[in-house]
Amino acid sequence: MSYAKFIIVTGGVLSGLGKGIISASIARLLSSSNRIVTIKCDGYLNVDPGTMNPIEHGEVFVLDDGGEVDLDFGHYERFLNIDAKFTWNLTSGKIFKEIIDKERKGDYLGKTVQMIPHVTDLIKSKFFQIAKSEDADIVLIEMGGTIGDMEMMLFNEAARQLKMDVGADNILYVHLTYVPELECVGEQKSKPTQQSTELLRKIGIQPNIIIGRSRRMLDDDIKEKIALFSNIDKAHVVSDPDIQTVYELPLIFQKEGLPYLLRNMLKVKDKANLTKWSRLVSAIKNPKHEVTIAICGKYTKLHDSYLSISEALVHAGAHYETKVHLKWLETTDIENGRRTVEESLKGIDGVIVPGGFGSRGTEGKIEVIRYARENKIPFLGICLGFQLAVIEFARNVCGLKKANSTEIADTPEPVICLLPEQMKVETKGGTMRLGGRDIRISKDSQAYKIYNAESIRERFRHRYEVNPEYVETLEKKGIVFSGTTPDKSIMQIMELPDHPCYVSGQYHPELSSRLERPAPLFLNLVKAARSFAEHRSRTN
Ligand code: GLN
Repeated sequence: MSYAKFIIVTGGVLSGLGKGIISASIARLLSSSNRIVTIKCDGYLNVDPGTMNPIEHGEVFVLDDGGEVDLDFGHYERFLNIDAKFTWNLTSGKIFKEIIDKERKGDYLGKTVQMIPHVTDLIKSKFFQIAKSEDADIVLIEMGGTIGDMEMMLFNEAARQLKMDVGADNILYVHLTYVPELECVGEQKSKPTQQSTELLRKIGIQPNIIIGRSRRMLDDDIKEKIALFSNIDKAHVVSDPDIQTVYELPLIFQKEGLPYLLRNMLKVKDKANLTKWSRLVSAIKNPKHEVTIAICGKYTKLHDSYLSISEALVHAGAHYETKVHLKWLETTDIENGRRTVEESLKGIDGVIVPGGFGSRGTEGKIEVIRYARENKIPFLGICLGFQLAVIEFARNVCGLKKANSTEIADTPEPVICLLPEQMKVETKGGTMRLGGRDIRISKDSQAYKIYNAESIRERFRHRYEVNPEYVETLEKKGIVFSGTTPDKSIMQIMELPDHPCYVSGQYHPELSSRLERPAPLFLNLVKAARSFAEHRSRTN
């Protein structure tokens, strides 16, 4: 048993209301004076989201410890400035796998293994283990999905039981709902909230705080009505309006008196240090400059697939008081000849080719990279984008016309090939080269100037690498591999010295970018994009 306090966050009415953001915002308000741990429960049977297509579930977030987790962990890390752990993401897959392994081992000998108490006990024991091992003052547990979802039943039941284990003074249930406003009457409606709190009560949970997602702040009378129907005080109904930037939410909650509520109900410290944070939020809201950056991928239909990249651009933009407009470029269109690369990159001040898998869209991306290289457009290649930049250079500068990655095609010139450590890998889940690794940076490089360090740590998620047999040929023609593993065996950063901004990484710099600590490669890109935009406006 631990002495931590617990906050349970559930969502009602519909998905996509921003439960991850409100969880991260609540945690941010408490994190200046408490040690807070964030847990996310997901109902699906995958052990982790690593094997899911990003179009289906949004980006797969990768932690420093190598865990592939739900994208809400990106919000937690960005808001709290912490390194989360794989064990903090509980899925039905993880829980059932452990239950069945335990049963086979004989841990339940003589017993009928049941959903309640065995599965719910295991879930609760995870909450307590994490609280204890992290020495947490507060554990915030975000329940995935929407109340009423079949697959979340066991997690929600565990959350209900938790109150009996820790005592009513040590746990708080926060429910996020949707408060629609009918345009013709201009009136906020409480019915969906009433029905969703009723569903919550049916499973034995009485919410203590209700957060109403709405277009604007909640009116007084709607707060009153929600309070009456939900059995809570009016002061416990909190607004979550449309805002320009998600980073403003902790400040709105502060105005709504949420820290005071949390302190009174949970007896925790509520002093939040948000000075730097507010300054950055105001830089996001009142930018002095603007640039447009193209994100060239194949999952562009669901912007959540590249969530950390767009957030990293917000961070770097805030730092330079610059609004970064995003242009989503579907590279299959260039590949199919539906649009030319010149047309696609018109008015663009910077190009990102992000990570990805498989062959679809890669020829279009290579075209974009060639254009950015030849026209000196600021460029950042990430993981697959880095690999494609090497392929483009091999084809168009080194004359290796058939250069490719063995992931993409059978090729006589495999400049990108499988990592040796991947040769023996047979299963797909959690088997890539994953997580935080050290990178050695050579002095006198652009990378050194950008990071101002000879040794850095970044997060990886890949199976392929620059083929060591081609490194010399590539270097002879001008590529500088300025970052490698400490033993120099794997190429991790490439740059072109005669280009104003062409530094790319085999890793994912976006995953460690935070509002209060933007990723250096993104800072570099936004800065170069600003110079490019200024130059463009002068020459137009
Ligand atoms: N598909 C490439 C690899 O596995 C790149 C992966 C990525 O972009 N995350 O190496």
